[in-house]
Amino acid sequence: MDEIILLKLGELVLKGLNRRSFEDKLIGNARRRLKDLGQFRVYTKQSTMYVEPLEETCDMDGAWLAMSRLFGVVGLSRARACAKDKDALLACAKTYLDGRLRAAKTFKVESKRADKSFPMTSVELSRYVGGELDEAYPNLQVDVHHPELTVYLEVRDYAAYVHADPEPGAGGLPVGIGGRAVSLLSGGIDSPVASWMIAKRGIALELVHFFSYPYTSEQAKQKVLDLAKLLTPWCGHMVVHVVPFTAIQEELRRKCPEELFTVLMRRFMMRIAEQVAQRTGAGALVTGECLGQVASQTMEAMRATTAVCSLPILRPVVGMDKEEIVRIARKIGTFETSILPYEDCCTVFTPRHPRLRPVLGELECAEAALDVDGLVAAAVDGIERLRV
Ligand code: ATP
Ligand code: MG
Repeated sequence: MDEIILLKLGELVLKGLNRRSFEDKLIGNARRRLKDLGQFRVYTKQSTMYVEPLEETCDMDGAWLAMSRLFGVVGLSRARACAKDKDALLACAKTYLDGRLRAAKTFKVESKRADKSFPMTSVELSRYVGGELDEAYPNLQVDVHHPELTVYLEVRDYAAYVHADPEPGAGGLPVGIGGRAVSLLSGGIDSPVASWMIAKRGIALELVHFFSYPYTSEQAKQKVLDLAKLLTPWCGHMVVHVVPFTAIQEELRRKCPEELFTVLMRRFMMRIAEQVAQRTGAGALVTGECLGQVASQTMEAMRATTAVCSLPILRPVVGMDKEEIVRIARKIGTFETSILPYEDCCTVFTPRHPRLRPVLGELECAEAALDVDGLVAAAVDGIERLRV
């Protein structure tokens, strides 16, 4: 138990967001992620969150990984505990950071002293340990302005800690602090990335998936559940609302012009998602739409889908290139699952010549042949809710 994790908090000072609620949310999220990894003490002090193991059996590597995916954290470091004594701190720095001290050319030491009874000031302690390290490592030179390596010493109430520069954290804001949104999750590459990007801004997510059994297989549904699970280290536990979509698609195929099929189908998706939002207290919808990618992703098609919703539709990847989206998908770990080759409900009924620039009046006219409200209500009634 001689190691702890220090987390640097992110955009705390956001206008309107008060610090206390930011920290409380972050602590709650951290505790939930650590629950299965052992007993930890988690608290914040001066823009730093401390994660301290309380038993020898705590999984520190697991905790490190979990904390590196916690939104609201900009940087994290592992710190080694030692006795509250200048030579103990020096010895600890030499053993714990030996590799990094050998690799760097320039360095400085920075000290923080929470325990004011410690016999040296922060400056004196930094000077002492810095001087000794400078002598012990001939490769090192002190540079207080732009050091390659900063050695941090912290003298706290019941122990002292040594750590080096923090590694980048997940950034963003604690999930839940900005409310809730409904994200439309397909089995593709884009929608998991879009979900992740909105969660990163502090939004808790409900996931909605449209399932077209038997046109799409159980495996296709499992793939979406797997994607949802892959998002939980970042987004926390979520509910996937699996919507039976086959009846609507069959009705559209029977009664509506083929070239309008895709955009009509997407209007149904948005209507149903909005109902889920209403029932879950969500304030927005999220999609993985990207301008120009496919026929249904023109501005005109977006206007047609937006027209059936009163909630804002967030499209975080709308202006990104495919490579940029793929880079994020790889980083967050969803890419390999997204490219598994199972049919999606959109690909099953793809029209041969989809209309690129649908006209609103024409869509409404086509929908006049349908019992829109009845179809939406039946789909919503048939929703299966699965927790991941
Ligand atoms: P993705 O890679 O996310 O599948 P895409 O490039 O394939 O996106 P579309 O198939 O046009 O684009 O879908 C656009 C968006 O509509 C998706 O990003 C997703 O948010 C939503 N969507 C599409 N199909 C489904 C589905 N079966 N269930 C839930 N949402 C869907
Ligand atoms: Mg898709």
